[in-house]
Amino acid sequence: MRIALIAHDKMKPEIIAFATNHKAKLEKHKLVATGTTGKQIIEHTGLNIKCYRSGPLGGDQEIGADVANGKIDMIFFFRDPLTAQPHEPDVSALLRLSDVYKIPLATNLSTGEYIIKALE
Ligand code: PGA
Repeated sequence: MRIALIAHDKMKPEIIAFATNHKAKLEKHKLVATGTTGKQIIEHTGLNIKCYRSGPLGGDQEIGADVANGKIDMIFFFRDPLTAQPHEPDVSALLRLSDVYKIPLATNLSTGEYIIKALE
């Protein structure tokens, strides 16, 4: 499976904890991430992750392009629902493409815990 990992700034501790808890599962798959999320997960877990640009600089769009090209099977995108994001249009575009291509996408930790079970 090809899996994308993304988290808004306030949710980064949550996605790092998630990746740490599920490292044994995640390391069996091909991982990509937006720049800062990926870098921080690598620092804390040592997982092998291909990092794209930072989200506000186009990273969400790069992952969207992968979705459109059939290169992503699952997305964990822990969003911060309480902070305005300068790149909200890019975030919406990624969510839309995920729906277009019917890619499972977790926007919060609880959903993440459910869909990662599909990797078992
Ligand atoms: P980041 O981008 O991982 O580079 O912080 C995530 C985002 O805000 O879309």
